[in-house]
Amino acid sequence: MTDPKIIDGKAIAETQRARITAAVAVLKSEHDLTPGLAVVLVGEDPASQIYVRNKAKQTVACGMQSMEHRLPADTDQKTLVDLVTSLNEDPAVHGILVQLPLPDGIEEQAVIDTIDPDKDVDGFHVINTGRLATGAAAMVPCTPLGCLTMLQDRLGDLSGLEAVIVGRSNIVGKPMAALLLAANCTVTIAHSRSRDLPALCRRADILVAAVGRPEMIRGDWIKPGAAVIDVGINRVPAAEEGKTRLVGDVAFAKAIAVAGAITPVPGGVGPMTIAMLLRNTVIAACRQNAIPEPDL
Ligand code: NDP
Repeated sequence: MTDPKIIDGKAIAETQRARITAAVAVLKSEHDLTPGLAVVLVGEDPASQIYVRNKAKQTVACGMQSMEHRLPADTDQKTLVDLVTSLNEDPAVHGILVQLPLPDGIEEQAVIDTIDPDKDVDGFHVINTGRLATGAAAMVPCTPLGCLTMLQDRLGDLSGLEAVIVGRSNIVGKPMAALLLAANCTVTIAHSRSRDLPALCRRADILVAAVGRPEMIRGDWIKPGAAVIDVGINRVPAAEEGKTRLVGDVAFAKAIAVAGAITPVPGGVGPMTIAMLLRNTVIAACRQNAIPEPDL
């Protein structure tokens, strides 16, 4: 039997996808609207190819339209910007995702800021960052939105809880902080220059690890009963010669003994990220067509 402390991201994502599928069916039957997600992949990065394939598969499985644009690794910035501009103008496209990382020589933020903010389903456009920070209706970055959804699913109201986020990237740490602040947590963001990280972590009722360092957060850094969200995806050598395995940023085996709830790696944050992308596409399609947003 699975440990009840485990927050099963796979199962929560499945529930989310069922809701999204139902909402898409209503949009089709009542509004003749099929949400469309365009994914742009530049180059041959193997991990990116897997992500893009999964995203396309799940988009179609939920009843939405998936458009894939694959460009060679030597694509120049202008060609990419022109493609994004044409997708901005295409009414069948409600969400645009440019798969990161982009090859060297292309300025990522400049490309992202070309996306129409209302179609920016990754939520990385500077306008959406500003909307999120000020409490306006934003497209919210998928990974932190997935983390928040799992926390609310397990804990309900988060008001007053002490949240510590380790990591301050624009795609995870900072938007996670904005979301937890909006959910009335008391928020601390820690990073590589923070002093006494173990002591900071021990204060947390909610601990989010988004660092990219295998098992850095130790069991004795965790406050007994805390909810721990492990965003990290790190590939390390496995016991079997030549093989690798995935671990998070949290030393899971020790942490689960202390925590009240914890996400596993894999099977925690990862599946939620794609579910939130599908959610954002539905929300974007509704906003662009002045249709009330379904409760997802
Ligand atoms: P970044 O590399 O952009 O940011 C890492 C953050 O960790 C930085 O803020 C850095 O601090 C901080 N950090 C690094 N070393 C330490 C340390 N020793 N002590 C404290 N803080 C430290 O990573 P991302 O935010 O993009 O991703 C983080 C992890 O999450 C990665 O493993 C990534 O693969 C994973 N990820 C998983 C996703 C999913 O869907 N599950 C989606 C996105 C990311 P500083 O700013 O001072 O340098």
